[in-house]
Amino acid sequence: PLKQSTLSNTAREPLPSPDLCLFIIVIFLYLHCLSLSFTPRLPRPGETIHGNRFFTGFGGKGANQCVQASRLGATTAILAKVGQDHFGESYIKNLKENNVNTDFVSQTDGASTGVAQITVDDEGQNSIVIVAGANLFLRPEDLVCVEEALASSKVLVCQLEVRPETTAQALRYARRHGVKTILNPAPATEDLDPELFELADILCVNETEAEMLAKQPVRNVKEAEKVALSLLKHGCQATIITLGPSGCVVAQNRDPTPHHLPSQSVQALDTTGAGDSFVGALAFYLARRPDLGLVEIAQRSCMVAAVSVTARGTQSSYPFRSSLPDVLF
Ligand code: ADP
Repeated sequence: PLKQSTLSNTAREPLPSPDLCLFIIVIFLYLHCLSLSFTPRLPRPGETIHGNRFFTGFGGKGANQCVQASRLGATTAILAKVGQDHFGESYIKNLKENNVNTDFVSQTDGASTGVAQITVDDEGQNSIVIVAGANLFLRPEDLVCVEEALASSKVLVCQLEVRPETTAQALRYARRHGVKTILNPAPATEDLDPELFELADILCVNETEAEMLAKQPVRNVKEAEKVALSLLKHGCQATIITLGPSGCVVAQNRDPTPHHLPSQSVQALDTTGAGDSFVGALAFYLARRPDLGLVEIAQRSCMVAAVSVTARGTQSSYPFRSSLPDVLF
C-alpha cells in the first residue's frame, strides 16, 4: 500500500519524456479558461459586491484529462477550438507547457474561447457561468484532419461538452481504426444517444452521472455495482463508476461479477477535478499498460486521482509521474 508521505505532488516538476512512437493518445475535446472569485457571499441580481481573492486557471474536462495523462508520461493531443483572443493564446501555451500536442487546436473568430466564471462564498457555495464559446464551433468535418493521427493512436477519450454529433463522429473514427475509446458522458445527462453507448469501449461516470443515466440511485457501493452492471446492457464493453473517497466500481461484459476498488485514504484538501484526473490516468494506463487488465488499471487510476485531491486546484493538483511511487508504473 502507498504511504501518505509518498502521495505528494508538486506543480513544477519536470515532465516525463513520452515515448513518441508507441503511446500516442488522442484526447478530445473541450477546454475553457477559469476565473475564480472569492466573496463573503454570492451577489444578488443587480448587486455589486467586493470579493477578496481572484484567480485565473485552465479547465474543461477534455483538457484536464489530457494534462493528467501527459503528466504521467503519455503522448497526448487535444482537438479543440479556441477564440482569437488572449484566453485562446494562453490556453495553447498552457497545453504546450504540459507536453500536449496542439496541432489540432485551431482558433476561430466566430466566438470567444470557452470560459467558466466561478464565484465562491465564505460558506463554500458557488455559482458558475460557463460560456462554451468556440468549443461549439467544433464540428464533425473538423475531424477529417485528425483521422490519420487517430488511426495511429491507442486511446480516444470523449466527453459531452462539445456538439454531440462531433463526439459521435470521433467515436466512429476510433471504432473504424480499432482505437480503444473511453466515453466520459459529462456533464450528466438522462438521455445519452444509444449510438454513443455502443461506440464506447469503456463508459466512465461519477455517481451523479450514473444515477442520471440509469435512473436509479447510487448511494453506496452495492447500488453502484448494480448500476454498473445495468449500464452494460446499453452496449459498452465495460463501465466504471467513480465514488469519491470510496474509490470506484468496475463492471465488464465478460465478467459477471463487478469489482469494488477502494481509494487510498488521504487528507483531502480539494476534490475539484478528481474525476478528470481519474479519466486521464485511465487513458494513460490503457495505452501504456493494457496487459494489466481493466481492474488493476482502475485501481491504479484511483491512486493517481487520490493524490490529486491532496492539493488545491484542478490541473494544478494533478500529480507528475516523478512524484508517484514506481509501483504505479
Ligand atoms: P468527480 O470529480 O467526477 O465527482 P469522484 O469524486 O468520484 O469524481 O472522484 C474520482 C476519483 O478520485 C475517485 O474514484 C477516487 O479515486 C478519487 N477521490 C475523490 N475524492 C477522494 C477522497 N476524498 N479521497 C480519496 N480519493 C478520492
